[in-house]
Amino acid sequence: MFNANHIRKDFPILSRKVNGKPLVYFDNAATSQTPQQVIDVIVDYYSNYNANIHRGVHTLSQEATDLYEQARIKIQKHFNAKFAHEIIYTSGTTHSINTVANGFSALLAQGDHVIVSALEHHSNIVPWQMLCERTGAILKVIPMNADGELVMSEFDKLLSNKTKLVFVNHISNALGTINPIEYIIKKTHEVGAAILIDGAQSAPHIKPDLQALNVDFYVTSAHKICGPTGVGMLYGKEEWLKKLPPYQGGGEMINEVTFEKTTYAGLPHKFEAGTPNICGGIAFGAALDYMNTIGFDAIASYENELLEYGTKKLLEIEGLKIYGTSQHKTAVISFNIKGIHPYDIGTILDKLGIAVRTGHHCAQPIMDFYKIPGTVRASFSFYNTKAEIDILVEGIKKAKMMLS
Ligand SMILES: *Cc1c(COP(=O)(O)O)cnc(C)c1O
Repeated sequence: MFNANHIRKDFPILSRKVNGKPLVYFDNAATSQTPQQVIDVIVDYYSNYNANIHRGVHTLSQEATDLYEQARIKIQKHFNAKFAHEIIYTSGTTHSINTVANGFSALLAQGDHVIVSALEHHSNIVPWQMLCERTGAILKVIPMNADGELVMSEFDKLLSNKTKLVFVNHISNALGTINPIEYIIKKTHEVGAAILIDGAQSAPHIKPDLQALNVDFYVTSAHKICGPTGVGMLYGKEEWLKKLPPYQGGGEMINEVTFEKTTYAGLPHKFEAGTPNICGGIAFGAALDYMNTIGFDAIASYENELLEYGTKKLLEIEGLKIYGTSQHKTAVISFNIKGIHPYDIGTILDKLGIAVRTGHHCAQPIMDFYKIPGTVRASFSFYNTKAEIDILVEGIKKAKMMLS
């Protein structure tokens, strides 16, 4: 049976105080907290295995290499990629997207179309704008509606034989909307284009089957899935990763170097220049182990309970408006209170030990759509409780009283 109070004991940070109050951590869409099981792996690595990998004949180097490559296989199995070499370690989602965007510079021509959605994080907008500037390709945008959903009939109209690339997030970080990626992937392939799914918000809640989805690229960060910062992955289908040129040059990514010509290493090393975040990669694997022992079905259904409870309780507060009202969403509640700036609410909540996000959440186009400067965002995780939501509700009422 799922027991959040029991699970909370795995997270040392959840028992600390902030401003004299027990921490209520509702900023999970920005980064998740780290369980002791993952912290132990990090400590164990630096206590027992720390060495550079892949090129050492000595025991430590071989053991570190084994742990790092075993973690890659864990990641492959978790996401059901066909081959381990289709999993490229990166520093995170942003690095992964830039790797693909850079690679496509060589594959796009002037006038080609690339399609993005109105619901994207800046890191899934800006690299593609830069790509368009380099190549003369044209950026098209799938519009959203007032519920914070993508308008699929408009997407259908944007697709043509000029479309070369489509990139959308699986779940919006600002609103929590779950996008219909199965449909988007199928339609994209019908016009012969490639598709990248930004999974930074979905990997913490949904265990995707990448082969069943038949997606060309899927990217995510470990730090939103109970892992450390500074590590993530780029999944690409083998055929695409072979086609794309490397992003960075350096050690590890070469086969042979002479001053006349350098030949690149095979996958995955072609995209992994330099000494990687070895400990981070190993801890990424440990984080997935941890999440899998709790189970993604249990996580999804409990978080949904929190979403329903939180939505009901928050809407009881007069003047509170929720942005992102799709039927298909994760446990993210983005809201404002009439006449009060989101930043001011966030500041008062912090005094009460409650961590929420305020601002545009790296998704300014969404805020422009609603004509607001930003929102207050409370994002829940499986280690949060209804009792914490009650504390949030009381906190908002207090903030409202102080500010209006
Ligand atoms: C967090 C996030 C990113 C960026 O991830 P980084 O770890 O900062 O690189 C991109 N897209 C979405 C949807 C996100 O939530």
